[in-house]
Order: sequence, then structure tokens, then C-alpha cells
Amino acid sequence: MDDLTFEQLRDIFDFFDGIYAYCDQKLEDTPSVDHIIPFSKNGTNTASNIVICCQRCNTVKSNSSVVEFACNNVEHIITYTECMSGLPREGVRDMFNRGVM
Ligand SMILES: [Zn+2]
Repeated sequence: MDDLTFEQLRDIFDFFDGIYAYCDQKLEDTPSVDHIIPFSKNGTNTASNIVICCQRCNTVKSNSSVVEFACNNVEHIITYTECMSGLPREGVRDMFNRGVM
């Protein structure tokens, strides 16, 4: 599935409001786009699966899930995923807890 539009990408930037998704640092250097669920784990190129993060975190996270990745900002990402996917918060949290994400 590949339905990411330019408008959605702009909304994603707006949502994170100048803060990187994983380390909660201010967006300074060139931001990178990360797939919360990596392609290697059947992640999709859709808005609810995409966050803005720094290149360092993206490199460190690589193909691991958000749970596997030492993440300072899981709550923010849960909120984001809930907004973008329309899934109820508990459903998103359950997915995180089960390590799907
Ligand atoms: Zn980072």
C-alpha cells in the first residue's frame, strides 16, 4: 500500500511541530522520514506509519520496531498514530505492547 500524498506529508510535519519523533529533540539538521513499522515487517508507506525523525535515530532504529528501539517519546508516537490511523488509543497501545509496531 502506498497512498502517501504531499498534503499528508505536510500534515505529518505540522503534527511533529519541529520536534523529532523518537528523541524529542528540536528539528535542526535535515530531517528524515521513518516508517514506524519497517517494510521488512510489512509496514506500509501510509501516513499513519510515517514519522519525522533525525538521521541519527533513523540509522540506529534501522529495521527494529518502535518498542525494540530505545525510544524517549513513545507516548507522542502513540498519539500521532492514533490521529493518523483513526484507531482508538487503546488499540494503538495494544499494538505497541504486542510489539507489532
Ligand atoms: Zn533523534
